[in-house]
Amino acid sequence: MTAPLDLLDLDPSLTDEERQIRDVVRQLVDDRVRPHVADWYEQGQVPARELAREFGKLGLLGMHLTGYGCAGASAVAYGLACQELEAGDSGLRSLVSVQGSLAMYAIWRYGSEEQKQRWLPSMATGEAIGCFGLTEPDHGSDPASMTTRARRDGDDWVLTGAKMWITNAPIADVAVIWARTDEGVRGFAVPMDTPGVTAREIRRKMSLRASVTGEIALDDVRLPADARLPEASGLKAPLSCLTEARYGIVWGAVGAARDCLETTLAYAGTRTQFGRPLAGFQLTQAKLADMAVELVKGQLLALHLGRLADAHRLRPDQVSVGKLNNVREALAIARQCRTILGANGVSGEYPIMRHANNLESVLTYEGTSEIHQLVVGQRLTGLSAFA
Ligand SMILES: Cc1cc2nc3c(=O)[nH]c(=O)nc-3n(C[C@H](O)[C@H](O)[C@H](O)COP(=O)(O)OP(=O)(O)OC[C@H]3O[C@@H](n4cnc5c(N)ncnc54)[C@H](O)[C@@H]3O)c2cc1C
Repeated sequence: MTAPLDLLDLDPSLTDEERQIRDVVRQLVDDRVRPHVADWYEQGQVPARELAREFGKLGLLGMHLTGYGCAGASAVAYGLACQELEAGDSGLRSLVSVQGSLAMYAIWRYGSEEQKQRWLPSMATGEAIGCFGLTEPDHGSDPASMTTRARRDGDDWVLTGAKMWITNAPIADVAVIWARTDEGVRGFAVPMDTPGVTAREIRRKMSLRASVTGEIALDDVRLPADARLPEASGLKAPLSCLTEARYGIVWGAVGAARDCLETTLAYAGTRTQFGRPLAGFQLTQAKLADMAVELVKGQLLALHLGRLADAHRLRPDQVSVGKLNNVREALAIARQCRTILGANGVSGEYPIMRHANNLESVLTYEGTSEIHQLVVGQRLTGLSAFA
């Protein structure tokens, strides 16, 4: 975090290596993302493949995984990278999260050695793009009710169904698809050029416009036996991948909020009304102070969860605490910053409305805030209130 927003002097609690990774990603975002992102957003088109290769060069794809060309960075370093990417745009952090924490992690954690060798090195460089298909048109928060089916036919598997709201699907080379079988939920690494697989882009999104989202139709898709991820058994496998990605969001949301607040501080310091800068009004300062306090609390929370992750002590319900709080507060900060910019707050010339719109998706995907409340509620009470 840059002064003066680092109210609690968190910077020195990062290691030199963590600060270095953060600064490299921040520079990449400044050079490669900020000059173009407003146009990408407005046009709803982003050079995702090109960016993926650049992110790959820096080791950002699957950066917390080990082997197969992955960087093997700490959880905190990965989180800091997510924070910087999302300060640029949530869509770019989504690209990296889906690639590394969902698609690559699923193959890395549950795949065979052959699957890992086939996909992970090229996904780490960004040559191959992955997506993760869990959500269906009729089943979002309740993936246990999924209807996509995989049935055995001799040695082969045949997949039928549909996946909806899948980040990267239209540009992906491989999809990790979760499907119901006679033995329960199983995962499959599905090459997107397999006959029967079609991906269609979802248009008219008012959020995450600098991210490619699609639906996947699976029409009697025949796959060899070795397409199944052998170590994945039951819904806990995809849920464990979601925990990985949610962890990145805990950090990323803080990045979007920070960018809003930095923009607003600069604006309020120079915009004059009634003969004084907006920043000189008590009401504005109350807003700025409250937002800065929430921001630094979110940063502390992310760092604490990161240190737990690096000590292999992070529980999924703790990630829910982080995702619930940090996305909710980031969205509140973005909306409040919007008010301080007045009419300019709704302009694409400033990043604030873009961040606010993006955070609406972030609030919903990877478990809605209500689902995370239920996870925390279950932890507190011992009672499941999901159904
Ligand atoms: C831009 C974008 C990208 C996405 N990328 C991916 C991806 O890459 N892969 C993927 O698999 N999915 C992806 N998703 C889908 C996302 O994970 C789902 O949208 C999310 O899980 C919610 O499902 P739903 O939209 O069907 O909402 P629903 O499940 O229909 O929920 C609607 C509302 O009801 C509430 N609700 C549901 N159940 C309960 C309950 N038991 N108690 C209280 N409230 C409840 C929810 O919290 C929500 O407010 C993406 C979504 C978006 C918007």
